[in-house]
Amino acid sequence: MKVVIVGAGLSGLVAARELTGHGVDVCVVDKGRSVGGRLATRRIGSARLDHGAQFFTVRTPAFQRRVDDWIDRGLVHVWNHGFDDDDGYPRYVGSAGMNSLAKDLARGLDVETSTMAFTVRAANGEQRWDVVIDDGSARPADAVILTCPIPQSIALLVDSGVELGGPMASADYDRTIGLLATLDGPAALGESGGVQHRDEVFSFIGDNVAKGVSTEQALTFHANPVWSEEHWDDDDLVDRLVAAATPWLGRASIVQAQVKKWRFATPRVVWPEPCWTTADESIVLAGDAFAGPKVEGAHSSGLAAAHALVR
Ligand SMILES: Cc1cc2nc3c(=O)[nH]c(=O)nc-3n(C[C@H](O)[C@H](O)[C@H](O)COP(=O)(O)OP(=O)(O)OC[C@H]3O[C@@H](n4cnc5c(N)ncnc54)[C@H](O)[C@@H]3O)c2cc1C
Repeated sequence: MKVVIVGAGLSGLVAARELTGHGVDVCVVDKGRSVGGRLATRRIGSARLDHGAQFFTVRTPAFQRRVDDWIDRGLVHVWNHGFDDDDGYPRYVGSAGMNSLAKDLARGLDVETSTMAFTVRAANGEQRWDVVIDDGSARPADAVILTCPIPQSIALLVDSGVELGGPMASADYDRTIGLLATLDGPAALGESGGVQHRDEVFSFIGDNVAKGVSTEQALTFHANPVWSEEHWDDDDLVDRLVAAATPWLGRASIVQAQVKKWRFATPRVVWPEPCWTTADESIVLAGDAFAGPKVEGAHSSGLAAAHALVR
């Protein structure tokens, strides 16, 4: 069986690894310049900042096994056990940034980056589907797993004859605007190195030094969904965000600031099943909109998608 997976975020890469382990021929395409999707890490000067997912928790045995393996290999460590109070539950981070976990999963797989899927349509040859790339080339497949945000997956299926009505058709996502800032000294976030929901603008502020991701002082600020939607097209975003960030800087000053916008940051509704398949199980939709809007949800959905095809 030949499977093409659209999206090399966590769900797509987990599905690819699982299928490869079952002897399936898998190709992953992603429009991004590198793998990871919302597991994203950026360098500013010599600082390293996570700018998508900030940390993750573990609830399921399957994800715990993956995380234990990452810990054994030095790829993951515990950041803390809660931001305001110690609730006993570990918050994990990728030791070299969250994106390093995607890179680890992608190792040895057939992954084509800078490769944007344009449409999925019935194939003329031996395979059932062609995943058509925006340069006009095609990747033939017996089955296709789409792990993009749902509106993008629906757009890819327009020529396929597969119709997704009902709640799937109206699926929407909250936006997040992020500010990445390097500082000339330590910030004032407190011992845990993270602040959650204690501000009118920001839903999360993370200290990349306290996380153990950066040796240079660097903060990641995520504006909450309401603020992000209201200010999405503002021309003076950097100034606004820097002004909102200032109370959290203590005596430090910002050296460099960059803005990052996530249009499809968080699914507003989570589908009740960990993935969705056509009746013949040749098209599968997966991603965090199916098993929970978190790192663990994406992992669970990727596994479920692979198991749907192997079954
Ligand atoms: C700002 C922010 C903060 C977050 N913080 C946390 C957190 O602290 N803890 C937590 O657990 N979770 C967090 N999350 C959520 C977590 O990052 C996601 O749930 C998870 O990474 C989603 O993985 P995914 O594989 O489902 O999707 P994605 O990572 O979005 O992967 C989808 C991939 O599809 C690709 N793609 C889309 N369209 C096409 C196309 N046409 N052709 C080819 N490729 C395409 C994209 O480039 C992308 O790489 C956060 C997310 C954001 C945005």
